[in-house]
Amino acid sequence: MPSTIIACQDCDLLHRPRQLRDGQRAMCSRCGAVLYRRKRNSLDYTVVFSLSALIFFLMANVFPFMTFKYEGRVQESVLFSGVKELFVQDLWAVAILVLIVSVVFPLLKITGMLYVLLPLKVNRRPWKASNIFRMVEALHPWAMVDVYMLGVIVAMVKLSDFATIVPGAALYSFAALLIFMAAAGATLDPHDVWERLEVVERV
Ligand SMILES: [Zn+2]
Repeated sequence: MPSTIIACQDCDLLHRPRQLRDGQRAMCSRCGAVLYRRKRNSLDYTVVFSLSALIFFLMANVFPFMTFKYEGRVQESVLFSGVKELFVQDLWAVAILVLIVSVVFPLLKITGMLYVLLPLKVNRRPWKASNIFRMVEALHPWAMVDVYMLGVIVAMVKLSDFATIVPGAALYSFAALLIFMAAAGATLDPHDVWERLEVVERV
C-alpha cells in the first residue's frame, strides 16, 4: 500500500490506508462511510470476463451483423459496414469517431487489461505495465459499445417498418461483449492491481 493519505469523501477526515484482505472494506473512523474496499477474487473474475469479452469482440467483427430484406433485395451487413457507409457519404469525422469508440477503444481496453492482468496472475510484471494500466483506466469512459448498441437498436426499430431485419450472430455477440465488458469493469479493483504491480516490481 502506498504511503499516501486519503480523505473521507463524506467528512474529510484524513486516514492512512491499510492493507485489506479479500472482501474487506475500510471505513471512516469518524462517520463510518466506506473509504475503499477490496473486491473478492477481483483478478480472477476480471480476467475471465475480459477473455470472454475478447472472444465476443472477435465474433462481433467476423460474423454478419444483420440482414436487410427489402423489396426482394437482400443485403447483409457486418459491424464495419456502418463505418464504411459513413465514409462513403463523406461523413468521415463521424465515421472516425464511431470507429474509435466502438472498435478501437474497446479492443485496446480489453487487450490492455489482459496484458496487465494475465501476467499478474502468475506474479509477473509485463513490460510498461503501469503505463498500459493507466491507459486502460483512461479509456474507461471512451469505450462506448453501449452507445453503439443503443444506436443499432433504434435503427432496427425504425427500419423494421419497411424492411425485414434478421439479426445476425455478430449482433448477439456484440450484446454479449457489452455485458462482459461491463462485468469486467465491475469486478476490476484498480487498487488491488496497483498494489500487485508494486509488490511484483520489488521482487
Ligand atoms: Zn468520514
